[in-house]
Amino acid sequence: MTGTISEALREAAARLSATSDTARLDAELLMAHALGVSRSDLLLRHARHPVPPDFAGLIDRRAAREPVAHILGEQEFYGRPFRVTAATLIPRGDSEVLVEAALALSSPPARVLDLGTGSGALLLSVLAESAAEGVGTDRCTAALEVARENANRLGLEDRARFELRDWHEDRWVDDLGQFDLVLCNPPYVESDAELDSDVRDYEPASALFGGTDGLDDYRALMPQLARLLTRDSVVIFEIGAAQADAVTALAAAEGYAVTLRRDLAGRARALVMTRGIKR
Ligand code: GLN
Repeated sequence: MTGTISEALREAAARLSATSDTARLDAELLMAHALGVSRSDLLLRHARHPVPPDFAGLIDRRAAREPVAHILGEQEFYGRPFRVTAATLIPRGDSEVLVEAALALSSPPARVLDLGTGSGALLLSVLAESAAEGVGTDRCTAALEVARENANRLGLEDRARFELRDWHEDRWVDDLGQFDLVLCNPPYVESDAELDSDVRDYEPASALFGGTDGLDDYRALMPQLARLLTRDSVVIFEIGAAQADAVTALAAAEGYAVTLRRDLAGRARALVMTRGIKR
């Protein structure tokens, strides 16, 4: 690519618009990465710089549907940068509603558990915004390494611990202890769902697919949660767009009261469960 940064950005955005809903943003993030500057500095200070030689290759990767977060190795979530790899789900803006729900609880949790923590984004965001300590579990060792790295980067390593656990195995709950708050964004996509190739070809299937109706992990977890909770504990699940009724029924069958919270697009996204009276 020749010409100025602004020209290169325009060309790249036009090319990416065939495959990305966020073509201009993608191009700016990749340009900032190639220059080693922040996106805001890129726009303010570098518009007239020569185009870095690496930029074209980054745009080729994005044009082949590789997620920007994988190319950068990083995704912002709840205002903080998180390292992500192919071993972790890329944290979604929609999931921030779980953090908001956690921070809005009437009594702030002291001990937080995040089941299927992946990059650690949910747990570490809540810890960063509170004085709580927490445990993140995952069945994937490579994901736990990413989560630990994120805890270190955010200076939360003294309050966050990460453990290899698989809730489909016997005795996985043993010795975890009890928690005031349990967070969980399980795999919930139906196994035959048509996903964009950015997601399907690059993000871990084990973090996405929850069986034929997407509900396998809710079914497995619901009856096991009681052992992790005290009387006043709260559980916050992420759910898929059409799953509110089904997951509410699974929670009610175990005696939980449920409230729902919507994401930015207005879809029920977080299911908040308590054991006592509805709140
Ligand atoms: N929200 C993600 C997607 O639609 C799925 C996340 C999940 O299964 N927990 O791609």
